[in-house]
Amino acid sequence: MKNRTKKNRPKYNKTNYSQSKKKQKKQRRNPLPFLLIPVLVLVLVLGARFLITRLSDRGGQGKTDQTAPEVSTDEQPEEKMSVHFIDVDQGDATLILSDGHAMLIDAGGNAKGTAVQKYLMDREVSSLDYAVCTHPDEDHIGGMDVILTKFDCGQVIMPDVESDNASYPHLMDVIEDKMIRTMDPVPGTTFDLGQAKCTILAPAGEYEDTDLNNWSVCLRLDCGDSSFLFTGDAEEAAEQDMLAGDRELGATVLKLGHHGSSSSSSPDFLDAVSPTFAVISCGKDNDYGHPAEKTLEELKSRDIKVFRTDLQGSIIATTDGEQITWDKEPDQSWQPGVYKGPWGNHDSESEEGTTEEVHKIDDSETDSDAAGDRSATDSYDYILNTNTMKFHFPDCPSVGDMADHNKEGSNLSRDELIEEGYSPCGRCNP
Ligand SMILES: [Zn+2]
Ligand SMILES: [Zn+2]
Repeated sequence: MKNRTKKNRPKYNKTNYSQSKKKQKKQRRNPLPFLLIPVLVLVLVLGARFLITRLSDRGGQGKTDQTAPEVSTDEQPEEKMSVHFIDVDQGDATLILSDGHAMLIDAGGNAKGTAVQKYLMDREVSSLDYAVCTHPDEDHIGGMDVILTKFDCGQVIMPDVESDNASYPHLMDVIEDKMIRTMDPVPGTTFDLGQAKCTILAPAGEYEDTDLNNWSVCLRLDCGDSSFLFTGDAEEAAEQDMLAGDRELGATVLKLGHHGSSSSSSPDFLDAVSPTFAVISCGKDNDYGHPAEKTLEELKSRDIKVFRTDLQGSIIATTDGEQITWDKEPDQSWQPGVYKGPWGNHDSESEEGTTEEVHKIDDSETDSDAAGDRSATDSYDYILNTNTMKFHFPDCPSVGDMADHNKEGSNLSRDELIEEGYSPCGRCNP
């Protein structure tokens, strides 16, 4: 850029100069008396002197005047977009800002809504253009009711699937009460967010109603040459459906699906996206073994640089449309998560990241999200079965048999739960 500007400038002057010469030639041919010639010569000489003086003056001052903005452009590239991977413990929440426009992809679990709200307020976000609920699992939409209550939002983008967790009706109530427009995530749909362009890529297939992860809204953001791919909790089936489509998947940054679990980020998908950077959003010492050792190995073998919210807290990437700048160095630990068994049973059954599968086999019903409702359950007084409408003590053996997507933690009192329509379990008699 610098060189081009410098080359252009003399060219421009030259052109002007030769143009005036041409004009002068034309005037020569003019049948005006010869008397005019000395006058013209004088004008030319004076004009040329004036021009030379001005140019050299410029040259002198120019070193401060003109190099200053060039230097500052080099050192502080204009920020066209920033992407904030907010640390919400076990869950997802990503804020994208560009030119005063804002989009939030997921808002963490129920307990994190206020923290995400504070993060947005600290960034002086007053309203959201878009709120994306990738899929209705608790660790993604739990905090969204708070966000949509506190901030005005242009549109909510969410897949057409329901969840029976306690957060889902709260979210739907807010959307209805505030009459927020909702957008169907039809693959191929594009929209602008400030200087960035957003393309919806998934859900690109049909899945079981209970297979919530694969229903995840996936989208890519392009800002100049920088691109980001967000895949929610999409697992291999959804990745295959995206690969089967014709849409561009290649991206500079991939936010790894399903918190770095081995059920996502299949080799084919990683090859197609071919990211330079990967971001993993998961909780410190989470019970699910996220990120999986297998996933980390796939990343390492491809020389992909990794950022992790569990080890590094919130992570911010900014781009000027050419380069992506990170507020932290990539994590070098390559430390996989340790599976601690269902419900934080700390007898490690860690089997290099196959925890999701183990869990799915345990549950005869389809497990929508092993990383979902169980997070931080040890801090709850009661565990609810949203399907049978029974409530249990956390150590009740029935809790272990419960399908994950029916489990909810609660700190309501016994009476309040009964008022809400729950009845005490006959085994643990809470
Ligand atoms: Zn999920
Ligand atoms: Zn999740």
